[in-house]
Amino acid sequence: MKKEYLKQLPAVDDFLADPGLSDLLTDQPRAVVVMAIREVLDELRLKIMAGGTSLDSLDLSTTALIHLVSCKVTQITSPRLRRVVNGTGVVVHTNLGRSILAESAVLAIDQVARNYCNLEYDVEQGARGSRHDHIRDLIIGLTKAEDAIAVNNNAAAVLLALTAIAKDKEVVVSRGELVEIGGSFRIPDVMRQSGARLVEVATTNKTHYQDYANATNENTALLLKVHTSNFKIIGFTSEVSVPEMVALGRETGIAVMHDLGSGLMTSIDSLGFIDEPTVDDSIKAGVDLITFSGDKLLGGPQAGIILGKSKYVEICRRHPLARAVRIDKFTLSALEATLRLYLDSQYALQAIPTLRMLSEKFSGIEDRAQKLAARLTSIAGARYDVKVITEVSKAGGGALPLIEIPTVAVSVSLPGVSINELESRIRSHEPPVIARIKDDRLVFDARTITMDDLEIIAAALRIADRE
Ligand SMILES: *Cc1c(COP(=O)(O)O)cnc(C)c1O
Repeated sequence: MKKEYLKQLPAVDDFLADPGLSDLLTDQPRAVVVMAIREVLDELRLKIMAGGTSLDSLDLSTTALIHLVSCKVTQITSPRLRRVVNGTGVVVHTNLGRSILAESAVLAIDQVARNYCNLEYDVEQGARGSRHDHIRDLIIGLTKAEDAIAVNNNAAAVLLALTAIAKDKEVVVSRGELVEIGGSFRIPDVMRQSGARLVEVATTNKTHYQDYANATNENTALLLKVHTSNFKIIGFTSEVSVPEMVALGRETGIAVMHDLGSGLMTSIDSLGFIDEPTVDDSIKAGVDLITFSGDKLLGGPQAGIILGKSKYVEICRRHPLARAVRIDKFTLSALEATLRLYLDSQYALQAIPTLRMLSEKFSGIEDRAQKLAARLTSIAGARYDVKVITEVSKAGGGALPLIEIPTVAVSVSLPGVSINELESRIRSHEPPVIARIKDDRLVFDARTITMDDLEIIAAALRIADRE
């Protein structure tokens, strides 16, 4: 039986000569078609060898094989990393690329990608320059920090700072702040990697000033505060405030570092529901070194920003590891453009998608939800049950999972099709549409859906009903 099937598979060269493949061969490089044929035949061979009932419906006709090859060619020639529609309502969604960029940041990348640029060239002096200079004054102006650099991401920023300042020395951290962020960033592991010795103090729920004070000695290089971005301890708790830690730092001559994580620049009225520490607060409190992410609440590209007292930022800048984790020119251009938008914080709220989505008024979201619902109801012949509902959006998966914001969503079901099947169908649409499942219905949160996305969602659902 298996042998019979295997015998039906054509040889690659014979198959290439089939007139049914001539269109594909005109459109695509021969090497790509050959690769596709090989992969299709390999997959079929494995399927046949595995046997089972699926063989009963195996179609090895030339027409069927050509269709498989054509799909494989599309797969080989299409980008794997591609846009998706975020219907989850999670604004800073780590799996979906965190922040989408402001228009000016996209244009900045475009310019730098198409042309030579002054990445490390001082145009005024006609001499070598530093890549850090492009954002330094901007960050100083916005935050009143003495100095700043940007690196690959916040994990790199923390690793660099700990390595440069505390290698072979002690770093005091509260047990309540030994966090894991996003699966692979764990404070104790990063600490070990940096060569600094972690001195854990206090307990999970309660940390007192004296806990830090008792742990300091002549080997202590840093008092580290880590923002517990992705969980909250409630109940019988206490922590030592940033100003108190700075006071202890001053008294003992030990530097204070604050890993802020989310990087909210200042408290903005319309984002008042976000109970996050701000860069402003930490600078005002006199923290020596602050680190945060570029692509969380800042709303820029993946980056890590280190800012604070010149003495410590300079040590980071000069450390050999800084070269290994340095920021690239595309990221730097997008980061600069994003930061520039903060010069007018009201404008930033509109121009930076992450801030715009988080601060959008209920009425605007409702309007988009109604438009989506109307569009879905009007799909010709479709049998969908469509409702507009109130829901809650989350600020961010890995970053701010606790923050919930009231929102408006469109909830959809298709009689006779299971919700998991329907979800899988819209996910295999091109571009893929990612939605949430709740109470056996698909939920599209209008907060993270753009006007452009409406047509894509409608197209995905139109096709999903026909499958
Ligand atoms: C997100 C986060 C990190 C890691 O930042 P990346 O930019 O993802 O590398 C580190 N520390 C805290 C507190 C965070 O919230």
